[in-house]
Amino acid sequence: MLKIDHIGIAVRSMADSNELFRKLLGEAHYKVETVETEKVATSFFHIGESKIELLEATDPESPIAKYIEKRGEGIHHIAFEVADIRAEIERLEQEGFVPLNREPKRGADNKLVAFLHPKSSNGVLVELCQSVE
Ligand code: ZN
Repeated sequence: MLKIDHIGIAVRSMADSNELFRKLLGEAHYKVETVETEKVATSFFHIGESKIELLEATDPESPIAKYIEKRGEGIHHIAFEVADIRAEIERLEQEGFVPLNREPKRGADNKLVAFLHPKSSNGVLVELCQSVE
């Protein structure tokens, strides 16, 4: 694991939260991106070497919509940057973690991503991400 790449936060209103986090961090978001396959709109803020990723559902069937329905707004996942995502998935699986997707998929921010089931990691949804061109 290289560093905390970002912390993902589930929000009801991207517009309201972009404004809130601009005030909190003292800097506006630097990009927005929709991930169609996950039915989610994202917005990114720099914070030092890491980022904050706001997540807003674009569809009532989105995993983010379901998350907010169940648990309300808040921290949704922590993303760790890795150098070799396939090797990390394999290593973590051997350590007893449960991958939600064994084959990395294309996420926001030019990343390959994979998630670990929160039940295998103290209730924390863990995202692994590897930068790609
Ligand atoms: Zn993320």
